[in-house]
Amino acid sequence: MTFATLGLIEPLLRSLETLGYQTPTPVQAQAIPAVLAGRDLMAAAQTGTGKTAGFALPLLQLLAMEGPKVTANSVRALILVPTRELAEQVHEAVRQYAENLPLRTYAVYGGVSINPQMMKLRGGVDLLVATPGRLLDLFRQNALKFNQLQTLVLDEADRMLDLGFSEELANIYRALPKKRQTLLFSATFSDDIRLLAGQMLNDPLSVEVSPRNVAANTVKQWIVTVDKKRKAELFVHLMRKNKWKQVLVFAKTRNGVDALVEKLQGLGVNADGIHGDKPQATRQRALDRFKLSEVQILVATDVAARGLDIEDLPLVVNFDLPIVAEDYIHRIGRTGRAGATGEAISLVCADEVNMLSAIEMLTRQTLKRQNEPDFEPEHRVPDTDASGQVIKKPKKPKKPKASGGGGKRNLGKWVDSGETQAPEPSIKPVRKVPVFNTGPRKRKP
Ligand code: AMP
Repeated sequence: MTFATLGLIEPLLRSLETLGYQTPTPVQAQAIPAVLAGRDLMAAAQTGTGKTAGFALPLLQLLAMEGPKVTANSVRALILVPTRELAEQVHEAVRQYAENLPLRTYAVYGGVSINPQMMKLRGGVDLLVATPGRLLDLFRQNALKFNQLQTLVLDEADRMLDLGFSEELANIYRALPKKRQTLLFSATFSDDIRLLAGQMLNDPLSVEVSPRNVAANTVKQWIVTVDKKRKAELFVHLMRKNKWKQVLVFAKTRNGVDALVEKLQGLGVNADGIHGDKPQATRQRALDRFKLSEVQILVATDVAARGLDIEDLPLVVNFDLPIVAEDYIHRIGRTGRAGATGEAISLVCADEVNMLSAIEMLTRQTLKRQNEPDFEPEHRVPDTDASGQVIKKPKKPKKPKASGGGGKRNLGKWVDSGETQAPEPSIKPVRKVPVFNTGPRKRKP
C-alpha cells in the first residue's frame, strides 16, 4: 500500500517524499480514507503510531480542496492537544505536510503572551493547533470565530481529561457549529472518554491499532532496586559506568527535577530540566537543545511524557515511577521509536512497590530486576509479578520496647530479619485494576 493509493493529492505526496515516509502506518491506512470520506473517527492510537499524519494529511487535503476561503478571525480546522509542547510538535508536523499547499496554519497555547496570537488570528487561519485554555481565552476576547469551522480533532483526549480540561472542552463544544467532522484520538477509552465521544461524534468509525504497551518490545526494560535516599547517587554511578550519552529522565515532582538537575550540574554534567513551573520559552529551549544533543541529560516531569517525538533517543530513565501506571508506557515510548531499539531503566525504591506492580500488570510483564553492587537497598522492594500481586516477605518481628537494657530482645531471644519464625511468604493481591485516571490531575504536572 502507498500513500497515493489512499487517495492523497500530489502536493502532499511530495511532502511525504521529502520527509522519507514510504509506507503508511496501520493507523494512517485506516484513518486517511475515512477522514477523506468525511467520516467521524474514534481512534485508539498512541503516539509513535504515526497518528498525527493519520489525521493531519487528510485534513489538509480537505481544506485545500473544499470549503470557502478563510475569513478574518476564523478557523476552518481545529486540533486540540493537551500540552504546549505537543501543540508545537503537532504544528511542526502539519507545517511540513502542508509545505506545498496554500494554507495558513498556526499554533496557540498558554504560558506565552496572547497579543501576538491575537494579531496572527486577525487574518484567519485554515488550521489551528491549540491547547483548550488558551483557545477559550482567545474566543472570549473575540480573537476567534468558529462559524467556518468544518473539522475538530481531539488529540490525546484522555490526557486532556486527565489534566482537568473537561470544563474547557464542554465550553468549546458549545461554541462550535453542530455540523462538522470530528476526530477523536485517545490512548485509552475510559467511561469519561466514551461519554465525550458520545456527545461529540456522529456515527464514528472505530479505528484501533495495537497499543504500544503490547508493541513496545523494541524497548529493553529493566529495574534497579535502591533506597530512596540513594537514587541520585545510583543515577550518577550508572551514568558514568555505562557512559550514557543522551538520556531523558523522568522525576515525579518539580522539586525532584530541580534537585537532580542541580546535582548533575554541580558535577559538571550538561543537564537541564523541564516542568510546569518553568516559563514556556525556557521549557521549549531546553527541549530543543536536548533534541540537538546540546543537552546531555534532560530531566522532566510527566509534562514531557506524552506525544513528544525525539528522534533516536536511546535511553529513558525513570528516576521515580509514575503515579499513573499508564504514564510508564508513554514515558518509555520516547525511546525505541520507529523500529529503533531503546532501553528504559527504572530506579525503584520500596515505597514504589504498588506502582511497580500496577505497571507490570498493565504491561503484562514482570520487569527484570538487576541489582547494582554497593547499592542493594536496605529497604527491600518486595517481589512483584504481572498478575498485580506483591509477594510480601515475612515481616520483621516488631522490636520489643526497650526495658532498661535497650537490646533487640524478643522473648529473651535475639532476632534479626533472617531469623523470623513467620510462615511461608504470603501472596496478597494488592491491586486488581491498573490505575488509569485516578482522580483529577493538576493542570501543570
Ligand atoms: P506520531 O505517532 O504521529 O507522533 O509519529 C511518530 C513518528 O513517526 C514521527 O516522527 C513521524 O514523523 C514518524 N512517521 C509517521 N508516519 C510515518 C510513516 N508513514 N513513515 C515513516 N515515519 C513516519
